[in-house]
Amino acid sequence: PQTEPWRDCRARATLPQRKGSSTVQSAQEFGDNPVEVRETGHYTEEYVPSFVEKWDSLIDWEKREESEGNFFIDLLRKWGVKSVLDVATGTGFHSVRLLSAGFDTVSADGSADMLAMAFENGMKQGDHILRVVQADWRWLNRDVHGEYDAIVCLGNSFTHLFSERDRRKALAEFYAMLKHDGILILDQRNYDAILDDGYTSKHTYYYCGEDVSVAPEYVDEGLCRMRYEFPDDSVYHLNMFPLRKDYVRRLMSEVGFQHIETYGDFQHTYRGEQPDFFVHVAEKE
Ligand code: SAM
Repeated sequence: PQTEPWRDCRARATLPQRKGSSTVQSAQEFGDNPVEVRETGHYTEEYVPSFVEKWDSLIDWEKREESEGNFFIDLLRKWGVKSVLDVATGTGFHSVRLLSAGFDTVSADGSADMLAMAFENGMKQGDHILRVVQADWRWLNRDVHGEYDAIVCLGNSFTHLFSERDRRKALAEFYAMLKHDGILILDQRNYDAILDDGYTSKHTYYYCGEDVSVAPEYVDEGLCRMRYEFPDDSVYHLNMFPLRKDYVRRLMSEVGFQHIETYGDFQHTYRGEQPDFFVHVAEKE
């Protein structure tokens, strides 16, 4: 039995050399017709290191912590959670917070670059040695072992899945990795507002101040292409599937989750009437 599922993968995840390496991909690749790029697997090409490094250096973690508060930590404590699998580790923000709060945390992500950055961030922020595993959600159980009290999929990550089959598969994999009374916490942007209110809702979101501006550049029922602009005028994009809130709730219950509670906003990036984000808490039993 494999008791340390991250062991092999940590070596793998720290391998990519982002600076000065010929394998580094510096520009995003969307081809001639960016709005046709609607593929689940494309996320690894969208999070190029220069984009992620810029994001992380501008959105400082303290500000992000202030804006998010203890929402997730309080929720997990309320549920008596001890072990957590962070399936969308990214650069490690939530994993590090969870470790600092004393949760037994394993950090997974499909992008090796992200995990390498998360590992570095863990060391920088309080000497945490992140237990990282490179794993795509569609085949999570193949690469991550064990059962967890909670799985977190945060930072509007689930939106990267472009087919219903992939979404069902990913949710089923999350379900299978939870203990019988475990919970899944998954957040998403409020795409209903963007889809239904059309251009009026196409406001620019400013993250933690005015440093990074984010706005939907193109929207239809199958794609929300977000534009990220930084103070040095550099621009990046992410192609995302615009998840409707009730659709996600339905999928969760169809996959087997018994009870789903949905919260509006925990962070205020825009002071409108509608929440910018929803957080779903789904109970396995
Ligand atoms: N939770 C982090 C945060 O809030 O800062 C990171 C969020 S980032 C928007 C989304 C992350 O999900 C990326 O690190 C990406 O590599 C990962 N991801 C997207 N699709 C994935 C998939 N199919 N399997 C595994 N990871 C995936």
